[in-house]
Amino acid sequence: MPVPKRRHSNSRTNKRRANWKLVKPNLVNCSHCHQPRMPHRACPNCGYYGGREIVVIKEV
Ligand SMILES: [Zn+2]
Repeated sequence: MPVPKRRHSNSRTNKRRANWKLVKPNLVNCSHCHQPRMPHRACPNCGYYGGREIVVIKEV
């Protein structure tokens, strides 16, 4: 098994990690209830996907 000969410097580690960025989720409006939802997911508000109710949302 190859093993790294030397540890990387803090600078090198930090430079690599400097490229990690927060990603804002893409939101689209639900065609049924017009609430924002993630694309290609059933709506968390009304449970509709593709014009049909896929997930039945329980009333609390
Ligand atoms: Zn909806």
